[in-house]
Amino acid sequence: MNQETSELRDIINSQDDIILIIARDYGIENVNRSGLTLLDKNREDVIGEKCYQALHAKAEPCQYCPFTQTMKTKQTEVVERYDTTLGKHFRIKSTPILSERGDAVKCILSIRDVTERVNTEAKLKRMQQELNLNRRLVAIGQVAAGMTHEINNPLTGVIAFSQMLMQMDIPENMKEAVEVIFDGASRVVGIVDRLRTFARQDRPEKEYTDLNAIIGNTLAMRSYEMRSNGIEVTTHLATNLPETVANVGQLQQVLLNIIINAEQAMATSSLQKKLTITTEQVADRIRVSISDSGPGIPEEIIYRLFDPFFTTKDNTSGMGLGLNISHGIITEHGGEIRAQSEPGSGATFIIDLPIVAETREREPAKPADVEQAEPVGARILVVDDEPHICRALDRLLTKNGHQVDTTSSPLKALEMLSEAEYDLILLDLRMPDMNGIEFYDHIKAISPALQQKVVCVTGDVVSAQNEAFLHETGIPCVAKPFGVSELMRQVRHVLEGEKNDAQVTYSRS
Ligand code: ADP
Repeated sequence: MNQETSELRDIINSQDDIILIIARDYGIENVNRSGLTLLDKNREDVIGEKCYQALHAKAEPCQYCPFTQTMKTKQTEVVERYDTTLGKHFRIKSTPILSERGDAVKCILSIRDVTERVNTEAKLKRMQQELNLNRRLVAIGQVAAGMTHEINNPLTGVIAFSQMLMQMDIPENMKEAVEVIFDGASRVVGIVDRLRTFARQDRPEKEYTDLNAIIGNTLAMRSYEMRSNGIEVTTHLATNLPETVANVGQLQQVLLNIIINAEQAMATSSLQKKLTITTEQVADRIRVSISDSGPGIPEEIIYRLFDPFFTTKDNTSGMGLGLNISHGIITEHGGEIRAQSEPGSGATFIIDLPIVAETREREPAKPADVEQAEPVGARILVVDDEPHICRALDRLLTKNGHQVDTTSSPLKALEMLSEAEYDLILLDLRMPDMNGIEFYDHIKAISPALQQKVVCVTGDVVSAQNEAFLHETGIPCVAKPFGVSELMRQVRHVLEGEKNDAQVTYSRS
């Protein structure tokens, strides 16, 4: 062997890639040191052996190997392939060795382990998809927040006027019509409330939570779809279920994922479609079980359900992230989630959450509204950019014996406050020229005492800025659309000089 040949051999042997020379009949003619290390054999044992036997312990040539193609085309061919036995990704390149006549007589096969690169690429792709999903969720939250505000404003007028009409002495047939208007508007209030919960989910705040109530709300969100798909829903919700501390929006997201999966699983089933939700206390945990009567989950995939991007659905109906995200949320809440299934007899998802001992102070019982004598004759200023809300509040407060001025301009309102003395200001927080928070700062210059007389009336308590403002100042706030007695209760509290906490009240009466 001359020096050049010896050097070339050393170069080939120093490569990490496995390099083989394969003859037309698939026999191995030569192999470098990396190849021998991988095969764990001596050179003499390998030479002459068929490549598919030596490398893959197979009796036939491998379908995917670029060797066969190269022998036909006389071109260099490359494929990437995952080897299930070795659990690695390989890049296989075949280069023809041509005879003097130009025929492919043998082939150089180089095999490179590209597992690390492929895994990194897959990880990057996953991160990109997660980022896109997060962006989409944030966008949905923003749309929902904007929508609740837009819907709440007109709804406030409908609710307030229909409630006022119902209390009036009007003909029976008109009363019936007004009741229908009020009931319809109240249903929309429920829908908007649930949207509001969803819009708040970008903030990971946790609060004492009644799981039964969250389940009720979530089922209500899907009630139309379930009814139209013939799904019978049964709930066994434990009374006196202990509370936990949780992020309501996130738990709702988990329940929605599981319920929608169950709906989809049952869609194709010819059996009766049944969804059963049970809550119970099991030892020191709260357990929620959600069962469906769908086809169940095959044993071979049940362990992969919570993996990211695991889906058996097509691209349009599933991304394989729902259960993965749900798992993350439940784990973050100190709980556990698992799936059980007997194929053919449905699937059950079980969520265990910790009971969180009651440490907060119990809210004092609200005084009964009816027996309180209403203070009358107060001078009240209403500042709201929606003229029909001004009109509704004017009517309502005037009817309750107060003297009311309204304006849709915060600047005009500041003028009015410096010209006359008011006992109470009903203030909208979201207005175009000057928002309620800025207005509140301005009235301090007129008289700091005026700040004690403010009640906020807003459809936008989901914004973090408004929530922080209400929390810091302790101003009472009535969420639009409000019920007549809730509004009057807050008005009475301020007029009587009672100290209110910063709670936003949603109750509609
Ligand atoms: P996706 O719904 O996008 O597929 P998920 O993470 O929510 O993603 O669900 C992953 C997979 O779990 C689904 O594709 C489906 O195969 C399986 N699965 C989830 N819930 C059920 C169920 N109730 N019945 C049968 N299979 C289910």
